[in-house]
Amino acid sequence: MEGDKRFRELIDRSFVEEVSEGERQLIHDHIRDCDGCKRYLELTARTIRGLREFTFTSERSRCQLWDRHLSTRWPSS
Ligand SMILES: [Zn+2]
Repeated sequence: MEGDKRFRELIDRSFVEEVSEGERQLIHDHIRDCDGCKRYLELTARTIRGLREFTFTSERSRCQLWDRHLSTRWPSS
């Protein structure tokens, strides 16, 4: 999909620094329709967070978890 690269950069950024509410909403809206980026976000989250708590993530709770991730400031190291 066109623009995916941009979204993925935004997703990357959202994990290492604060993004604006508008940008967050953009990602949120986009991944609702884009499986590729949703997958990318999940993989990124898993990589950064380091696994297990995502093992039992259900389809429905993904967005909630993601919101929580984004509201937490990740250490950049
Ligand atoms: Zn996409």
